[in-house]
Amino acid sequence: VETVALGEAVVFETVDALGGQVKDEGTPIDRIDWSRVNPATGPVFVENVRPGDTLVVKIRRIRVEPRSIIVAVPGYGVLGDAEFSPRLKILRIVDGVMLFEGVEIPLKPMIGTVGVAPDEGEVATGDLGRHGGNMDAAVVGEEATLYLPVFVEGALFALGDLHAVQGDGEVCVAAAEVGGEVEVVFDVIHGRRPEWPVVEYGDRIAVLVAGETLDSAAREATRVVVRGIMRRYCMDFAEAYMLASLVLDLRINQVVDPKKGIRAEVAKKFLDVHSLLG
Ligand code: CA
Repeated sequence: VETVALGEAVVFETVDALGGQVKDEGTPIDRIDWSRVNPATGPVFVENVRPGDTLVVKIRRIRVEPRSIIVAVPGYGVLGDAEFSPRLKILRIVDGVMLFEGVEIPLKPMIGTVGVAPDEGEVATGDLGRHGGNMDAAVVGEEATLYLPVFVEGALFALGDLHAVQGDGEVCVAAAEVGGEVEVVFDVIHGRRPEWPVVEYGDRIAVLVAGETLDSAAREATRVVVRGIMRRYCMDFAEAYMLASLVLDLRINQVVDPKKGIRAEVAKKFLDVHSLLG
């Protein structure tokens, strides 16, 4: 939908993950058109970015609307087999705090869906993989930097599915789903790319891996970090494997999307993004 230059500030306007279909708490859940759920804004073509590169996405600012939505629907989420009626709540944000039935929750705005076009074919914005997508990683927030592998000319970047707050796991299948604006600046690393999306935030660096199961995602995430440690310190596999056991934290992004998401986190003093690029 747009061509942008490296270094240019780009603002994405996004609607909430329910596609703006919920106007109030009286909206019947069975009227929601699930084919319109989890949209993303884009794609944008980033100049001077080619297959084999890394698209660097600096997230400068996330502004969320003062009203977000959460749903709980039988059949969805970690406890989807429990007996309950479908519920929908509008959550208001007042003075930077979200109110849930009198419980005050500090805001922690994040981007649920962010990625590039895959190497071939199409991918739904509800799915996730090496291209990024619906990763629902709570650490992809303001001032984080994402490193995405580029598969096609211009990368074709898109984002959406903002969450005002989300816990690791996103257990009920929804977070505080909200529309808003995200300002990003693109940069590029030519000729090398990561196997999976990488995010830096604060003093941490994490690899974001998707798998059919948490076990398979954990295995792949560990493999990628061990490989990075081998490169960084010129260690053999067994040494890097042991070091990983000391400094690597495996954390859950979400367990409710078409694939499960794990992030393998390390303090930046132990691993740098260049050791994760092929
Ligand atoms: Ca999502």
